[in-house]
Amino acid sequence: MKFPESLQRLLLAFRRLPGIGPKSAQRMAFHLLERDREAALTLAQALSSALSSIRRCERCRMFAEEALCTICASPTRDAGVLCVVESPSDVIAIEESASFRGCYYVLHGRLSPLDGIGPVEIGLDGLDRRLRDGSLSEVILATSATVEGEATAGFIAGIARSSGVPATRIARGVPLGGELEYVDSGTLSRAMTGRVSVRDDETQF
Ligand code: ZN
Repeated sequence: MKFPESLQRLLLAFRRLPGIGPKSAQRMAFHLLERDREAALTLAQALSSALSSIRRCERCRMFAEEALCTICASPTRDAGVLCVVESPSDVIAIEESASFRGCYYVLHGRLSPLDGIGPVEIGLDGLDRRLRDGSLSEVILATSATVEGEATAGFIAGIARSSGVPATRIARGVPLGGELEYVDSGTLSRAMTGRVSVRDDETQF
């Protein structure tokens, strides 16, 4: 049978979420419409409110409600040490490991030329300005251990080198191909404290 148009639109909207296929979309939509209309309304209002109030921090591109996120706005964080990550989930994972007191820079992606994702798409122009303004003593490259994550780290290490800012790479314990958000807190904490200096021969891409 053909679903009513508004239901079709709802199913299509659910299917745009990562990992949601037609069956899951139908299960969620039917659950909300049949059994929990109040939750559906809460979800709709929360989405609408988050969309209008959440933006990117002007300094680090993390989610924020003000111009600066709570980390960049905190006087207790070391603004001279910048940890570069691919996603807001990585910031949360590192914060939960309680191993880092510096600030972050969130790329919202990684270099992937074949998909049309170049330096500007992941905010490297802004990072370049930060690296050149003389305020940083270290940049920690915490991109994923995937091919694109490594290429992104190498690219940023090149900018850091030309700006005279020492670059380090988190290494130990993070599995090859690993996404930070799936690494446990203890391992992530050791990876942060055991970071290694990025040598020139590792960063030729
Ligand atoms: Zn921030």
